[in-house]
Amino acid sequence: MDQNYVAPDACVIEMDPEVYIHNIKELRVSTGDKVKICAVMKADAYGHGIEVMMDPVVRSGVEYISAIDNCEFRIMNKWFKEHNINHVRLLRIAPATKEELTESIINQWDVEEVVGSLEQAQYYSKIINELSQKLGREIIVKIHLNIETAMGRMGFRKVSDVKLTQEVTNLKVVGIMTHLAREYEAPPNDEIATRAQVDLFIDFISQLTLESNVIKHVANSAALVKKKYTQFDMVRAGSIAYGEDKDQFQDPRGVIKPIFHKWRTSVVIILRDVPPNSPIGYNGIQRTRSDKDSTTATIRVGYDYGFPQYGCLNKHFVLIRGKRFPIIGKTSMNMLVIDITDQDLDNQIQLGDEVVIVGKQGKEYISWDEFSDKQKKGITEQYLEIANQCPKIIVQSE
Ligand SMILES: *Cc1c(COP(=O)(O)O)cnc(C)c1O
Repeated sequence: MDQNYVAPDACVIEMDPEVYIHNIKELRVSTGDKVKICAVMKADAYGHGIEVMMDPVVRSGVEYISAIDNCEFRIMNKWFKEHNINHVRLLRIAPATKEELTESIINQWDVEEVVGSLEQAQYYSKIINELSQKLGREIIVKIHLNIETAMGRMGFRKVSDVKLTQEVTNLKVVGIMTHLAREYEAPPNDEIATRAQVDLFIDFISQLTLESNVIKHVANSAALVKKKYTQFDMVRAGSIAYGEDKDQFQDPRGVIKPIFHKWRTSVVIILRDVPPNSPIGYNGIQRTRSDKDSTTATIRVGYDYGFPQYGCLNKHFVLIRGKRFPIIGKTSMNMLVIDITDQDLDNQIQLGDEVVIVGKQGKEYISWDEFSDKQKKGITEQYLEIANQCPKIIVQSE
């Protein structure tokens, strides 16, 4: 055997970046060819890793890529240069700090910035003026006006302020946007609130003089397929493009696939004849069953990889040999105990068996929806936590 053998990680997320291309293709079925798609790649591409996602995202044919932090734009800019790509536009969907704006300008990343107040526009203009003098070149920063319609975090409320912003030197308006806040509410509230936001946006725009090529964009994942009236000139696709969905909420046709298709680990020890009521894990908050001896399997996942520490209180299951087994006891940093007493006697669990925490095994499936629901967390929030802590490997999905 190779003396330099490197063992694969015990606990990994299997991801298939190519699935992104499939997902965008399916989204185009809904948007048609005229509506642009902005691939949202903030939070390191929703935990998937910008480095690995750049290639499939660009090949998916999106017109725009958005992110927030400069560490993200740095990677994108380098990638564009290396691959000679200049047809994809970049948009920052949060207000830039002075330092971020400065770096972006000096390095000529051509990031389009979001502006949501006159004061912010004037602040940027001053920064740009100073830079322009220092660098001895004219600088124009392209901006997207963000209109307040219900988010309350970064938008214009007054038409007069927008008109004054249109006059600010060094800034060129290329887009106008707003962000939806309430599409995840139960019907009919989602519809009423979203309509109201869109109406406000349309009314606001009707009071402005905009060049015809200014891009209007509103929709995020929850709206872009289900509420066609939110599509305008462009949709901003975040979570849906990575294939997460809550009970087909975002994707009613059920055609989107998760890029993170399997979170798995393995069985490292099996303990037999464990007496009834034996404490399992820190603080003994759970014990083995009282009616008979148990068999337990310890698996290599813990809160170090993002598995919730009190998952046992929320009745989590894992899959082994195509069957569901409950977890038992508080999650350790790197280990978790499974109750396998009820295993199939003619298909017994063995050391080294694959354990699926999220994904398919045989006929069984645990989705990210199911997993995050148990934690009462948003899917994105939940899998960002896990993806940021657990090693990821590329494996083609079935
Ligand atoms: C994050 C974000 C999106 C994408 O949201 P999803 O729900 O993940 O599609 C779109 N627009 C803005 C302004 C955002 O911040």
